[in-house]
Amino acid sequence: MKTSNGSDPRFAGRVVIVSPHLDDAVMSLGATIAKAVQSGTRIEVLTVFAYKPASSEPAGPWDTSCGYQTEGQAADSRRAEDRQACLALGAEPHWMSFGAEPYQRGASNDEIWSAVDSATRGADLVLLPGYPLEHPDHAELTQLLLTRGLSCGAIGLYAEQPYSFDHRSKPPGPAPVRALQAVADKPLVWTRVNASRAHRRTKLEAVRAYRSQLRHLGLGESGIGFFRLRYLLWHEAARGGEAVAWLS
Ligand SMILES: [Zn+2]
Repeated sequence: MKTSNGSDPRFAGRVVIVSPHLDDAVMSLGATIAKAVQSGTRIEVLTVFAYKPASSEPAGPWDTSCGYQTEGQAADSRRAEDRQACLALGAEPHWMSFGAEPYQRGASNDEIWSAVDSATRGADLVLLPGYPLEHPDHAELTQLLLTRGLSCGAIGLYAEQPYSFDHRSKPPGPAPVRALQAVADKPLVWTRVNASRAHRRTKLEAVRAYRSQLRHLGLGESGIGFFRLRYLLWHEAARGGEAVAWLS
């Protein structure tokens, strides 16, 4: 990945970070969010597949392993974690009540696109997940939004954590979804957003709010996870910061 230091003027005004699940935006861009908020930028974290709160659908395998019995229970608990994480960063959390995989979506692609388009309308910058896009919810969402387009200023992609960290020994591969190949006629150029130690510390505090998720992501507060989370953050900082690629 190419590294570029210094503040990017695109992180100004109103910025919406589209998060497939209740943790992706903060895990991936927490330090960038803390830095932008400090400079007066309004940051909204828009989680699209934030579950259906009234759902009594039995919890899927992931949520069962996190201790939840139904989708609705996971919705309440995980939204509370997201609220706390966003509060630590000074960002505004917004949640859409669409089911994450493996639950019923509860809406068509048209309805999901339309809801995200209205929630991001007029934003100066919208950031979407962009690498490695291995989770089907991430790939489907980015493909949908790039194919249909959004009524906003600039659009950027972000490297998804901890998945991008797990790929650290490999160079970024070719664009993994068709929409990315279509919009990026040349290879994407990833740049790094440098952040101060204080911003990285704020990110750590925010990430730790996702208590139900950390252990299952191998980033728990005990054992090897404790070191893996800190190594991830150190590695990110050593490379120059969190990674974004600009599409416009
Ligand atoms: Zn996710």
